[in-house]
Amino acid sequence: MTSTLRLDLSAQSAQTADFPASVSINDSIDLSRHNTMALACVADTVVTLTTEAQLDTFMAKYADSAKQKKPLFVLSGGSNVLLPAQLQAVVLQPKMRGINLVTKTDSYVDIEVMAGENWHDLVVYTVNQGWYGLENLALIPGLTGAAPVQNIGAYGVQLEDCLQYVRAYHLPTKTWHHLTAADCQFGYRDSIFKRAPNTWLISCVGFRLHTNAKKILASYGDVQTVAERYAEQHGRKQAIPDDVMQAIIDIRQQKLPDPKQLANCGSFFQNPIIPQDQFTTLQATYPAIVGYPMPDAMIKVAAGWLIEQAGLKGHGIAPILTHQQQALVLTNHTPYQATQEDVANAQQHIVNVVYEKFAIQLSREPVWVNSDGSIGHHEYVV
Ligand SMILES: Cc1cc2nc3c(=O)[nH]c(=O)nc-3n(C[C@H](O)[C@H](O)[C@H](O)COP(=O)(O)OP(=O)(O)OC[C@H]3O[C@@H](n4cnc5c(N)ncnc54)[C@H](O)[C@@H]3O)c2cc1C
Repeated sequence: MTSTLRLDLSAQSAQTADFPASVSINDSIDLSRHNTMALACVADTVVTLTTEAQLDTFMAKYADSAKQKKPLFVLSGGSNVLLPAQLQAVVLQPKMRGINLVTKTDSYVDIEVMAGENWHDLVVYTVNQGWYGLENLALIPGLTGAAPVQNIGAYGVQLEDCLQYVRAYHLPTKTWHHLTAADCQFGYRDSIFKRAPNTWLISCVGFRLHTNAKKILASYGDVQTVAERYAEQHGRKQAIPDDVMQAIIDIRQQKLPDPKQLANCGSFFQNPIIPQDQFTTLQATYPAIVGYPMPDAMIKVAAGWLIEQAGLKGHGIAPILTHQQQALVLTNHTPYQATQEDVANAQQHIVNVVYEKFAIQLSREPVWVNSDGSIGHHEYVV
């Protein structure tokens, strides 16, 4: 699956004369096909970067250019953003490609992957090479450079489990940095990049992947059963990471709508974390409530369950409705026309209804982009 709705810039406006031809700079670009929620969006300027040197060149000249007063915003696959109708910013698109094998030993490989590599294609490539660790993160849309931003995670694995370092450009000081995994300050769907928006452009990610085909993580949900079925089909007694990857692709395809068929940006709400006492009280009224124990006597509650129990599965405020099979996913039924405001209305409605029923406030997962390119909150009130 390719998650990225690729934007053909060739037919757009001519390049700005001040910059080298290799840096593609285009004005008034329609980004509605460049975000998986398919929200209407026109950006003032889009700069496509295919090498790190182009970023140096652009930033050196940018300081003297007329565009310098506009904020910078980094956009990759657009699968975790809610874009405004008018994006009055300079959008930087990291499209650098390449996967380099840095070290190979009997038990592991170190690889460096450029930001513009499609994430799912990378997962498939590494598993096919016999390099393991990313298989549980199969079929997550987007590009590799965006993966550290929210420390992508699925089926018991987070990016930080394999990430060694990140090469990133610090936009305010125009300097390159090598950030170790510890420097990235990863948390659950969180990192230094997420906490300091409009500050970093990640150009390259270093991973250490293992080569032990017996080491798998398949304890989550149905993964073990489906992986074993694949193993059996291939005459294997035991599931290997290739089987786990196939199982996860299968399960995700059944559960999640493909953004190419139905516009969406994945899980729209984070699973709220509430005190054990509150969970116990809710459990008395709703014995089937789904919760997972967390440190410090807290419980992570399944947001999808809350939305479904609040009677909102398949509902919302048109054209933004929760998905029929997965209430946690908001879908856009008028692609390329619906706006960020439509999303805000549906979001507010869902937050209100869930709060009224459970006294739990849901928080949004995807990144809200303001029209000046800053990352906003669009606070909802309950
Ligand atoms: C169907 C579906 C399923 C999903 N499933 C999962 C899942 O299981 N787990 C999960 O964690 N996520 C999931 N997501 C969310 C999303 O795919 C990930 O967050 C992904 O990493 C976003 O990548 P992107 O290239 O689309 O980033 P974008 O949406 O383009 O950008 C996301 C944010 O990262 C910043 N950014 C992007 N690239 C860079 C860069 N190179 N340097 C610095 N900042 C950058 C942007 O400014 C923005 O703030 C899902 C989304 C969809 C649509």
